[in-house]
Amino acid sequence: MAWGVCQAWVACWAESMRCRIVQTLLECVEGDITAQEVDAIVNAANESLLGGGGVDGAIHRAAGPELLEETRRLGGCRTGDAKLTRGYRLPARYVIHAVGPVYRPDDPDVPRLLASAYRRCLEIAQQQAFASIAFPAISTGVYGYPQAEACEIALHTTLEFLDQSTSLRLIRFVLFGAPAYSVYVQTIQRMAQTDSRLHVLD
Ligand code: ADP
Repeated sequence: MAWGVCQAWVACWAESMRCRIVQTLLECVEGDITAQEVDAIVNAANESLLGGGGVDGAIHRAAGPELLEETRRLGGCRTGDAKLTRGYRLPARYVIHAVGPVYRPDDPDVPRLLASAYRRCLEIAQQQAFASIAFPAISTGVYGYPQAEACEIALHTTLEFLDQSTSLRLIRFVLFGAPAYSVYVQTIQRMAQTDSRLHVLD
């Protein structure tokens, strides 16, 4: 395939949207979290930290068996919290394993626990002085959280975190499939209308 044609094909296929908040670039991309070349990717893990399906399984397969050896030593993780490991064979140097809640529409604790999972990842990234982090849509697969509600929580928690100064220069949301990606794009566009700190770049 000629280079120009190849570039055009990549441009159509690779959906992405970028915004700036103070000194941090906030990106949404449609893609695979295991391919992200960032300081840390976030895993949507379960309390055992011993691997599972969905994004958890994909991360363990791509990182190799050393990741399970390390997570076995961590003694699990409570819902709403997160723990750090190395990234092993992943392009990302580290993995932050976050445990989001199982969705229960009548439980008022559920939104708080999802926000806490995102906040703990950002706090760990800050403690480690990371410059870049990539998140999947935590709890929106097997754990059943509706994509639009989870997206609001992910973005509000991130914006609240960015009220303080941070080492993070790139926060990327990696969405698996076009429907999840468009939920993020639409939510950001709506939030940018009322939040003057949020500048949509493209
Ligand atoms: P949870 O148990 O927290 O719901 P899942 O892994 O079942 O976690 O799903 C979380 C989200 O991650 C879902 O929206 C799913 O489509 C998405 N997902 C699955 N695999 C990947 C991947 N390789 N990269 C990015 N997102 C992924």
